[in-house]
Amino acid sequence: MSDKYKYMLDEKDLPKAWYNINPDMPISPGPVLHPVTKEPVSPEFLSVLFPMRFIQEAVSTERWIEIPEPVREVYKLWRPSPLIRARRLEKALDTPAHIYYKNESVSPVGSHKPNTAVAQAFYAKDEGVTGYTTETGAGQWGSALAMACNFFDLACDVYMVRVSYQQKPYRRIVMQTFGAEVSPSPSEKTAFGRKVLTDNPDSLGSLGIAISEAVEAAVTSNGKFKYSLGSVLGPVLMHQSVIGLEALKQFEMADEYPDIVIGCVGGGSNFAGFAFPFLHKKFTEGKATRFIAVEPTACPTLTKGPYTFDYGDTAKSAPIVKMHTLGHTFVPPGIHAGGLRYHGMAPHISALCHHGAIEAVALNQLSTFKAAVLFAQAEGIIPAPETAHAIKAAIDEALKCKEEGTKKVIAFNFSGHGLLDLAAYDAYLQDELVDYAYPDELIQETTKDLPQVSEALMTE
Ligand SMILES: *Cc1c(COP(=O)(O)O)cnc(C)c1O
Repeated sequence: MSDKYKYMLDEKDLPKAWYNINPDMPISPGPVLHPVTKEPVSPEFLSVLFPMRFIQEAVSTERWIEIPEPVREVYKLWRPSPLIRARRLEKALDTPAHIYYKNESVSPVGSHKPNTAVAQAFYAKDEGVTGYTTETGAGQWGSALAMACNFFDLACDVYMVRVSYQQKPYRRIVMQTFGAEVSPSPSEKTAFGRKVLTDNPDSLGSLGIAISEAVEAAVTSNGKFKYSLGSVLGPVLMHQSVIGLEALKQFEMADEYPDIVIGCVGGGSNFAGFAFPFLHKKFTEGKATRFIAVEPTACPTLTKGPYTFDYGDTAKSAPIVKMHTLGHTFVPPGIHAGGLRYHGMAPHISALCHHGAIEAVALNQLSTFKAAVLFAQAEGIIPAPETAHAIKAAIDEALKCKEEGTKKVIAFNFSGHGLLDLAAYDAYLQDELVDYAYPDELIQETTKDLPQVSEALMTE
């Protein structure tokens, strides 16, 4: 057994191909439907929004998809990322469990999100597009895409949820430093934004509204701009698989293998990126690993939302997919884990959860901050409030091991650091944060207006 703290790979060990879970799905993630006709979308419809290469990846059944060399070159700025054995946390918990985390906070913008932003920016550049439109909540995704667009000399037009734009200036400044244009959403720049503002001039915005604006801006740009989404879609999950693929090699170096794999879920991309390569091992080699997706009780998509068809955005202009959803009109309460507040969930993760291949848990805000502070004091890194959900779940499992006297190997994805989220820590330390569980009555309310999809497609 190794006595190391960090497991570091060489640049030459950077994966050459992403893992595409499509051919290994035990259950179909369902078709992607046109928001108006509610029939399966044509590639022509999607090509208004996305680069061709991205669309091809979405439907590909190749298990391994080569990472283009220009993308690998940018990855090398921070990848491979370290796998760390959290020995000081183990000691603080006095647990016989071994706890490991894959540290994605080492990317230049501090989260896993550049893993897909860089790939998407390269595809757009390669196809002669001028730039991207996108939405961002707290600004993690916008920062990643702004950086990637800057590397590939593309324009970046970001719609940032208004409440975050007002309350969280630092990531706006990061985006602007990379040359992006950032607007608070709802904005006056789009017809949908103007409509929302007419109905409610004080609208704080939501990811669903910001997506609608970004989609509209791309659709009305005469092909100059494509639209980029930082989570949920199959190709995004696949781009993130570099995380798990590296981790597999690092666990070999450590001569261990995880019994439990954990990640927080907003749209599902960092969880998928970390977990799917291990899930592949489970499917092909029968490894008995448990997979736990962790969400906030304030946005309990997997644990409380029905598994059905819903629009990806509030204006019903984005495609309809089959997923666990709280309804496209869901407006999340103001918890600090901004990245975990999307109304839906990646169709692949929804399907795997429905099938029983992965488990889901919902955790309260205060318990996650408590875990984050414990982690920071033991390991020295302040986690993003999103990441704190994965940490709390890992700590819970480690404490179960202590009770049972079992020595499990627990691995979680450290999706990002919290150094631009210190206002949230301040609120926690000042005792200003409260717990909030999204009430069942409200879920019934926001899931009343789901698209009616034909019987044949429902069961496909
Ligand atoms: C955006 C974000 C998340 C949530 O998004 P996923 O697509 O579910 O991974 C989690 N952690 C951090 C640090 C983020 O920035």
